[in-house]
Order: sequence, then structure tokens, then C-alpha cells
Amino acid sequence: MQAKLAQVSRLPSLPTVAVQVVQAFSDPDVGVQEIAQILRSDPAITGKILQAANSSRFATGRQISDIHRALMILGKKVVSSLALSFSLAEASMNNGPHVEYFKSFWLQSFVQGLTCELLAESEPSISNGEAFTVGLLASVGRLAMLKGMTEEYIPCIDAAHELGLPIHEVETERLPYTSTDVSATLLSQWKLPEYCTTAVQLQHTPASAMSEVFAEQDSRMPHIVAVAVAVGEYFAGGQRGLALARLYEMMEQLLERPASGVDALLEEVRERLEENASLFEIDLAQLGTPMELLADAMQQLSFLAATSIIEEHPQQRAPSELLEENGRLRKRVAELTRQSSIDPLTSVFNRAYFSRRIGEEIAVASIQSESIGLLVADVDRFKQVNDTYGHLMGDAVLREVAQALQNSIRGNDFVARFGGEEFVILVRSTGLEGMAALGERLRESVARTKVQFDGQTVSVTISIGGALGHPADRPQRFEDNLFASADAALYAAKNAGRNRVIIGPFELSGDNNGEATSPELRRRRGDAPSSTTPAVEV
Ligand code: GH3
Ligand code: MG
Ligand code: MG
Repeated sequence: MQAKLAQVSRLPSLPTVAVQVVQAFSDPDVGVQEIAQILRSDPAITGKILQAANSSRFATGRQISDIHRALMILGKKVVSSLALSFSLAEASMNNGPHVEYFKSFWLQSFVQGLTCELLAESEPSISNGEAFTVGLLASVGRLAMLKGMTEEYIPCIDAAHELGLPIHEVETERLPYTSTDVSATLLSQWKLPEYCTTAVQLQHTPASAMSEVFAEQDSRMPHIVAVAVAVGEYFAGGQRGLALARLYEMMEQLLERPASGVDALLEEVRERLEENASLFEIDLAQLGTPMELLADAMQQLSFLAATSIIEEHPQQRAPSELLEENGRLRKRVAELTRQSSIDPLTSVFNRAYFSRRIGEEIAVASIQSESIGLLVADVDRFKQVNDTYGHLMGDAVLREVAQALQNSIRGNDFVARFGGEEFVILVRSTGLEGMAALGERLRESVARTKVQFDGQTVSVTISIGGALGHPADRPQRFEDNLFASADAALYAAKNAGRNRVIIGPFELSGDNNGEATSPELRRRRGDAPSSTTPAVEV
């Protein structure tokens, strides 16, 4: 192994300042003065450290305008970890053809650092600054290999992705040494304490074997790093499914917390990541939503459970266990999907859901040559309700209006809160008369509703505008035009005195010079709708 690792010396070194700082960081004889001097030799890093020291990340309440002062107030370990982050961020900047690999390396390392820091907060024996540094450096070997042996290393990453295997397994098969070996070697060259180097070397150890490590080592650093590496993999690596399965396992076996703690941990890491992103040059656009990450993990687990990869890799968990994991994930995804589709105030669908669904509905109606109708309902003089009875009464009114609408539609149709006091109802396979009748039913149902709140009773009315079209006939900007038409009818209903339903003609607008006139845009601009003669007035 030593002979193989001797080759590591041909790998390019990291920025000088970073290396000097890391070395100084672990040498108890190096004082604050000396570290300040090293840092001052790099004005860019100094500037960023001061910016970070004054950011909400530390909230010291003091203005820190000098690196020496930063060292005194925040301490050597914290300042060093900042210096290291900025050096690594800089070293990961790459405008060449491999920019995405560098970006995901940096995101992954930074997530590892944040996770270690977070976990160290409940480990009194481990300094948060030191934990952050070790997490940050746990994959530094990957950076060295990306830079020093690009042509050999990138195909490994790609293969891991295509085969659905952990990258360290592909490295073991294809390369003379793994990036974990390189990370550990670099850390020991930089004279980090042995328990840190050991933690990095052990980062991929199976969870079951890990608990034995604790008996041998008196530091819990290896556990923290192993968990952090899995979290990094989940957020930024290719093996989201395996990382999640490993996290559930480690949560119970290593951290002695319930498996349900994984969700909370991931959420907390995400929050910290979002807070710190701009300071540390993390591009958040790389990061999927919680839903997307979970769905991806689930897909990978199903794939793993269904393919022979498991047989070739008996050290991985059995398919049945993976399927069980997958079942658990499926439930989480269903729950998250539901949460992200429902408006919390009124419990009807929210606008995001409506926007997703209407596209699908139009596509189906187009294929089946059916019509699609849209009703837009807006509470009349709602501002007065708020002004007279207060916002809480206003909220109660919105809940009751939503329920009245929900109870008056057919199973095939659906209602969503589009915003404020405005609701939309998608109506399938109907004609103009059907639309008008439905609109009238909705209007009456709301008008009949008595909302009681805090000993008072309020009734409101709604105005409804509607439109109907055949997407097969007018495929161009059908959705925009449908909205614009229903909106124009609503506008007409309000102008005609409110508490009424107008179903307008399907208007073709906004197709001129290619500029889409989305109804939202139009409303935000306060444009009057183009004049139309209502087709049906109820
Ligand atoms: P119009 O008949 O022309 O529709 O008059 P309006 O008063 O209903 O219309 P306007 O758009 O002027 O006022 C809508 C009000 O709805 C203003 C806003 O404060 C209130 N609103 C929006 N969302 C909520 C909410 O979630 N809860 C409460 N209580 N009020 C809301
Ligand atoms: Mg209103
Ligand atoms: Mg309104």
C-alpha cells in the first residue's frame, strides 16, 4: 500500500495557504501570530474570512475587521476551518470541460463539513471547528485525483454512476489506490491528529463493523465522519439510494438515535447549507428539492433490488432489505407529495399542484378530443371582511368557501386555491350550459354558507368567470388562453355587480409577436381584459 501511495506524491498539491493553515492548525506550537501571518499572505482569503466572521454564521455581535482579532474571538480551529473552506472552494473552481465534477465535489465536501459540525455539537469531546475541517477534508483525495489524474479518475465516477455502484468500490477495482487512501495520506502528511486521519480512512466501513471501532478508538470522530460522508453522498453524490439506506442504519447503530432522525438531520443540513451557500460559493441550483432527492433515492433502491448487482456484490444488503427500505421511502414520498400539493389554510389543492395537473389534463383532453373548462372564483369585497372582522375571520371564511366549493363539484373535477381569495376549478367533459350550471351551484352554495368565528357570523358571495375550450382545436397556448378567457369573464362579472357567474367565449389572445400574455402577468400589470361579449350570463 505504501508503495502505491508513493505515487500520490505526483498528485498536485493543494493551494499553499491551505496546506500551511492545515499544518499550523494541528501543531500546538504554532501560535495565533503565525497563523495570522500565513493568512495575511493571501488577501482574498483574508477578506472572505472577515466576511464570514461578521456574518450571521457566527453572530458574535462584534465587528471583526482584522484577522488577528478574528483568531482571538473565533479561535484558531474555526478560523483555520474557514481558511481551508475558501481555499478548497477556490481549488474547486474550474471552467474546463469537467466543471460539473468539480462543482459536485465541492458541494459534497461542504455538506460533509456542515454535517460533521452539526453532529459535533452534541459531542462535547469534539470541537465543532475541528469536526468541520475533518468533514471538509474527508474527500479531499477526490479533488487531488480530479486534478492530478483526470483522465483515469473521471471514467471511474461515470462508471459508478452508470452501474449504480458506490464510487469507492469502482475505485478499488480500477485504480491502484482509492481516493479515501489519498485523503487519509494527505491528512497525515499535513500532520492532522491521528484520530482524524483514522476517521477519514474508515469512512466507508459498514455500519455493523463501525460500532466495534468505537470500542477501539476513544474518539467518536469516525462515526461522525461516516455519517457525514453518507449525507454528502445523498445531497451531491451519485448514490443517493445506498447513502440513504446506510444513513438509516448508521443512525440507529452509530448515533443511537431512532431511524426517523434521518429526516430531521437531512432537513437541518439543508437549512445550514442554504444559509451558508453564498458565502462559500455553493451553487444551490445544483441541489434538488427534498422531494426530488427522495424520489431519486427510491428509484435507485428499486433498481438495485431488481438487478443482479446485488448478487455480484454480496457485501451489499440483500434485495429484501432494500425493498423494505424502498417501501419506507415510498411512503415518505407519498406523504411529501401530498404535503406539497395541499394548501395548508383551506386543505384544497394548492396552486403548484393545479399547475402540474392542468397540463396533464389538457394533454389527455387533447388526445381524446374532449373539452376542458375552467372556472375562476373570487370572493367579493373580501378586504372588507378582513377590515371589519379581522384576519382570523378572513381565514375562517376562506376555509368555508373552499369547503363549499369542494362539496359542490363532481368527483372528476377539482378545486384549488390559486392565491389569496381566489379559487380555480377544472371541469372536464362538459358544455357551456354545464359550466354555467356548475358555476351557479357553486355561487349559491357559497352564498348560503354562514361562517361563524369568535361569536360572530359572516356570509360572503363569490363572483365566477368561466371559459371552455377544445385543446385539440387550439393547441397553441391553450392554457394561457383558457386562463385569460376565464379571467376576462370574472372581470366582467365583478363589473356587472358581483355575486354572479359569467361564462365567456374562448379568446385567442397574446399570440401576436410571440409574447405570451399569461393571465397572471396581465393581472399583475393591471391590464383590463380585452373586451368580449359574454356568451352566457347566469
Ligand atoms: P373584489 O370584490 O373586487 O374582489 O374585492 P376584494 O376586496 O375581494 O379584493 P381585493 O383584491 O382588493 O382584496 C383581497 C384581500 O384578500 C386582500 C388581502 O389582504 C386578502 N387576503 C389575501 N389572502 C388572504 C388570506 O390568506 N387570509 C386573509 N384573511 N386574507 C387574505
Ligand atoms: Mg375578491
Ligand atoms: Mg382577488
